[in-house]
Amino acid sequence: MREIQCRLLVIGAGPGGYVCAIRAGQLGVDTVVVDAAPPGGTCLNVGCIPSKALIHAADEFHRLAQLSSTPSMGISAGPARLDLGATMAWKDGIVERLTGGVATLLRKAKVRLVTGRASIRDGKTVLVETPEGPVQIRTEVLVLATGSEPIELPALPFGGKVISSTDALALTEVPGRLAVVGGGYIGLELGIAYAKLGAEVTVVEAAPRILPQYDAELTRPVAQRLTQLGIRVLTGARAGGLSDSGALRVAGVDGAEDIQADKVLVTVGRRPRATAAGVDGLRLDMAGPFIRIDERCRTSMTGVLAIGDVTGEPMLAHRAMVQGEMVAELVAGQPRAWDKRAIPAVCFTDPEIVSVGISPEEAAAAGREVVTGLFPFAANGRAMTAGDEAGFIRVTARPDTHEVLGIQAVGAGVAEMAGGFALALEMGARLEDIAGTIHAHPTRGEALHEACLRALGHALHI
Ligand code: FAD
Repeated sequence: MREIQCRLLVIGAGPGGYVCAIRAGQLGVDTVVVDAAPPGGTCLNVGCIPSKALIHAADEFHRLAQLSSTPSMGISAGPARLDLGATMAWKDGIVERLTGGVATLLRKAKVRLVTGRASIRDGKTVLVETPEGPVQIRTEVLVLATGSEPIELPALPFGGKVISSTDALALTEVPGRLAVVGGGYIGLELGIAYAKLGAEVTVVEAAPRILPQYDAELTRPVAQRLTQLGIRVLTGARAGGLSDSGALRVAGVDGAEDIQADKVLVTVGRRPRATAAGVDGLRLDMAGPFIRIDERCRTSMTGVLAIGDVTGEPMLAHRAMVQGEMVAELVAGQPRAWDKRAIPAVCFTDPEIVSVGISPEEAAAAGREVVTGLFPFAANGRAMTAGDEAGFIRVTARPDTHEVLGIQAVGAGVAEMAGGFALALEMGARLEDIAGTIHAHPTRGEALHEACLRALGHALHI
């Protein structure tokens, strides 16, 4: 059997694992990364990137379809036509470019990429089944970055018409009727995309409202847009199995109902691959289904670290990346820490949502006194010129020092503001700092300036 020795072995080449490996390689750490799939993990192969490509294509199609039926701004268009197979091929091309790019970056950083399924023998030894036969890898430090996978409902196992987010990103025909079980961000992003591509969409959500992790004020513009798009939303409703005729059984507040659907997309969350790769054999301390880590991503076993989705919420690519980068620098002997308070969360729904730090609702629940300011896009010139005035930017700050504790936004294109919001919190910005910063006119970002002025009691444009 072929044997490999290294200083750092990373299992999983998703955003956590590949960033960790690249950074370690850059710092001269002898690094091996193993993945059974092409590098890039869930995010590049079946998550962030393909879903955003599909969302963009759906937006383009929907805009054209709308213009063909209802001229707007003096513009009309002929009938919009869709070849979903060609759309998926375009999306696959983007995925291939990015995963190929990761492989190149790993090579450039002198990281060895081993393709195959890893199984852990002990904290220092891992066996990988590669297409060329088994390889044994001995390492000094082991990083677990095995990620997560879609949760399957026992009453709705994946297969046939019941599909996961991964399947939904590979359809070649738009389903006539699509039922989405789970109104979190993945279900809504995909549900909205398919509604824009022409599907009749019903969303079934067990909580009293969609996107239950966000406050009602923030999600209201999305709920309104779902209605405009003709998406039916059943909240407080639980999906059972399929009836004999293949309909989706739903028990709701108003009684039971069977929903006719050509596809049933189940997006009820993701579970960590914390037993994959023989991780369970290490008997690490767990936090529920996740691997318990400290602030430096150390597990309960010396020399074994864990990063990304396998370590818990928020299960986001950029969190996995920052953990991967930090771990690589720590392994290379560099001082490095990471403060969790400014992790942006973005929903690429229509309209988009961004949240960084705390919301007024969270402050109230914690008994914390705060000042807040909200500025609607309906009073923002750029939003008017773009023909989409839904949403707002909202800021929450300490009443004494005016230090900004949280910024949320909902509206067209607000995802691009996430970095700026996070920077404000990272830098410990006060309301006066943002209010005193010149925001270019006319831009949607002026709404942040005005929200801060409003929190200070002297907004100019409202
Ligand atoms: P993963 O990306 O899951 O990678 C883990 C890797 O480990 C995989 O490649 C897997 O093949 C490998 N692996 C596991 N076990 C083994 C084994 N035994 N041997 C070899 N290899 C193994 N996040 C965002 O931040 N923004 C978004 O817009 C966003 N959109 C999303 C949309 C969808 C539809 C989905 C499903 C997810 C989305 N996410 C998004 C979440 C994001 O994809 C994850 O948070 C991120 O990929 C986690 O990175 P990771 O490195 O922890 O694990």
